[in-house]
Amino acid sequence: MTAELPDLTTYDAVLFDLDGVITPTAEVHMDAWRAMFDTLFTEWDITPPYGEADYFEYLDGKKRYDGVASLLRSRDVEVPWGDPSDPPTADTVCGIGNRKNEFFARVLREEGIVAYPGSIAVLDVLAAAGTPIAIVSSSKNAREVLTSAGIIDRFPVIMDGVIAERDHLASKPAPDVFVEAARMLGVAPARSAAVEDALSGVASAAAGGFGLVVGVDRGVGADALREAGADLVVPDLSAFTAPAPEREASA
Ligand SMILES: [Mg+2]
Repeated sequence: MTAELPDLTTYDAVLFDLDGVITPTAEVHMDAWRAMFDTLFTEWDITPPYGEADYFEYLDGKKRYDGVASLLRSRDVEVPWGDPSDPPTADTVCGIGNRKNEFFARVLREEGIVAYPGSIAVLDVLAAAGTPIAIVSSSKNAREVLTSAGIIDRFPVIMDGVIAERDHLASKPAPDVFVEAARMLGVAPARSAAVEDALSGVASAAAGGFGLVVGVDRGVGADALREAGADLVVPDLSAFTAPAPEREASA
């Protein structure tokens, strides 16, 4: 069952998640973890060395500090938990987790990041139509990622993890960050579209009452995205700018 995709320029605004929607950020995170643990394991003489399997077994999908604790535990290394406010130099679970952010910034600087071409094509179409856009990301690195990708100037509103924390906004799947970004753009959620690749993000936009919630399936699965509240699911945003016969989504 397929249906033609709606025209995003008919909405008052389109709000985009960043990681996995505009940029393939997961790879940068993987590289940052590897660089950080390679350094730490060498310094501390921890064996066996960090390997790719460690990422999937202990880090992927986990909260940062939980991931650090479980990976260290797998090597029989115990350090105090510490506190999220610990500096990146602190040898605590939180300090080591915060250290990973420094490596993330370094990997971004050294390797850069290239936005998904299909997403850039959609941004171009929206810009040509004068449709306002915003970023709604849970990441505290959103500005660095957008800068590295060379597209930060395209977004008049960037709702990121820094602003959410400052303004005490509940994180996704609560609707707060999407609703607040719409307010900052001066648009009504019901007349706007939201684009997300994570279940929590889709649920956030759906709870915010957005007129259209687009799920981008980067591996979570179309059924799961629809169950979370996506009105339609595409494998990539290039679906929106493809020639008419290909402009279809599974519905
Ligand atoms: Mg995402």
